[in-house]
Amino acid sequence: MAKLLSEADKDFIWSTSANTIKVMTDFKVLPTPKNYHLWYTYSAKSDVNLNKVVDGMASKNMSFNEEISEKLYEKFFSAEKELKAVIETGATFQQELKKIVSVLKEAGDNSSLHTKDLMDHMGALSDFEGSEELKDIIQVVINDTDKMREQSQKLETKLEESTFKIERLQDNLDNARMESRTDALTNIGNRKFFEEKLSEYINNHEKIGHDLCLILCDIDFFKKFNDSYGHQIGDQVLKVVAHVVKTELGSDGAAARYGGEEFAILLPKKKLGEALDLAERIRSVISKRIIKNKQTGANFGKITMSFGVASYDNCPSGEALIENADAALYLAKDNGRNRVQSELDTAAAGQQTA
Ligand code: GH3
Ligand code: MG
Ligand code: MG
Repeated sequence: MAKLLSEADKDFIWSTSANTIKVMTDFKVLPTPKNYHLWYTYSAKSDVNLNKVVDGMASKNMSFNEEISEKLYEKFFSAEKELKAVIETGATFQQELKKIVSVLKEAGDNSSLHTKDLMDHMGALSDFEGSEELKDIIQVVINDTDKMREQSQKLETKLEESTFKIERLQDNLDNARMESRTDALTNIGNRKFFEEKLSEYINNHEKIGHDLCLILCDIDFFKKFNDSYGHQIGDQVLKVVAHVVKTELGSDGAAARYGGEEFAILLPKKKLGEALDLAERIRSVISKRIIKNKQTGANFGKITMSFGVASYDNCPSGEALIENADAALYLAKDNGRNRVQSELDTAAAGQQTA
């Protein structure tokens, strides 16, 4: 049963809530559920770290617009963050358990050896007259050692069972993590996956100097296709596209559904020319694929896609890479669709119009 709130609790909630609205009004952030959660926690001072960060920013006269609020929310409340922490803790715990199991195994082995030594000494003692008393003492030591070994073996078995269970939990968490980065319809990466991979590859570019290219592609006249054949057939098309993208890309990079009918392919360690080749291959395969209803055999004709390709060379940021690929994609659309254009084409087109 829910705990009853005291009058003082209720007063605190009312005043914190009023203060939350005031803080959001002052900072000009919308009272969305997420923002309310964030600023209520701040007003209630229930997360010391959050208050430290916000107060630090406020003292530098920084503003708390929607974007900053979103980032703070991600940092302090995102379920992802909790999941990540649980996964990391699970992994560490598992490693520690494994260490304990191996220490115990070693202890068990040592005590077996120790018992054997004692038995040998007993055998040697039997040759001596009057050593019965000593033999009794040694027998007691042997019995105790045996008990100790039994106990450590039991503990070892229990710990092995726990290690196994933790490994299973770890797998479940890994799966949950994977699912949260997968697009449910097409089964390829989602936007979150794309963003993670982008920062991973940018990191590799900056630290190790690896090349990096981005292909953005978008289905042509997809609205018309949906209008003609229905959303469900449209969904089938998205699955086909995702499948072709994944197959052609292989293990060369990361593919994701970037938006509704737009896909993104990140190509680490590839030059612009190689990225253009891949885009051209995908374009060609898709433009030849006949979309059919598997059950009825009904034919919905073909679809095409337009592609924009950019390289991270000389890009100041991931956003700039996306902008460059997007500009090339727009050029491909402008130039009649079903084609691949690169940032070089955008630059040339810009020079022509200048
Ligand atoms: P363009 O060649 O300029 O890209 O034209 P378009 O019609 O493809 O572009 P527009 O942006 O006008 O329309 C995109 C369409 O994509 C509209 C929307 O119905 C469709 N779409 C987006 N997400 C999904 C989805 O998950 N399933 C289906 N079936 N359609 C989707
Ligand atoms: Mg489109
Ligand atoms: Mg689009």
